[in-house]
Amino acid sequence: MSRTVLAIGGHIGDMDLTAGPTLAKMILDGDRAIILACTYGERGHPRLSPDEYRVQKVREGEQFAADIGAEFRVLDYSDGFLPNSEEAADQIADIIRAQKPDILITHWTKSIHRDHERAAILAERARFLASLPVDSPLGRHSVDQFLHADNWEDAEGFVPDLYVPIPEEAFERWRAAIQNQAFARGETYGFRYIDYYTAMMAAKGCLVGTGRACGFVVGGSSKFKLAGP
Ligand SMILES: [Zn+2]
Repeated sequence: MSRTVLAIGGHIGDMDLTAGPTLAKMILDGDRAIILACTYGERGHPRLSPDEYRVQKVREGEQFAADIGAEFRVLDYSDGFLPNSEEAADQIADIIRAQKPDILITHWTKSIHRDHERAAILAERARFLASLPVDSPLGRHSVDQFLHADNWEDAEGFVPDLYVPIPEEAFERWRAAIQNQAFARGETYGFRYIDYYTAMMAAKGCLVGTGRACGFVVGGSSKFKLAGP
């Protein structure tokens, strides 16, 4: 049965990197994926102005999603200033009510980026709000699974308890798509994102006896459900 997965990141590109291989795998399996960035990530370039980089980030996010067969959305919040507000949580809850995802993927709860931590908090709050019987024309929806993706910037206390094998075709599709993002290529602050995540998938694959895998922490009440992506 086809499932819908919603990946919620702090900045455009975050979920592309961390959840992207799993999203590519799920799409190849016939599932539907939506990538939602809570901010544009427009302050992440040392030479481009935020106004210039915002335009580029949106284009890169749209392109990545199109390349792996996902849908792309971005909330209108500013990089570095994602509020931990009921309004922001309700915007995400409306997307959950309308799109009815089976799986949510977001950041880990500890990060060097406040936007990442807040995206994780907002995602959890939104999941709760969407499940409540409130007066919404979109109805209510409960999300079965809540997963935290592995990210080098969110490493504190992150111990995966779910490993998703990434087949070669999904890896190749992800790797071709992520090349189109300047930060992932190392053009902003020089971190070798693509090398890091490629190596991490191989390392995680070693742990579970497959070529490549992505590790997730299963969050909240999802711990008691067995099925994974
Ligand atoms: Zn980020």
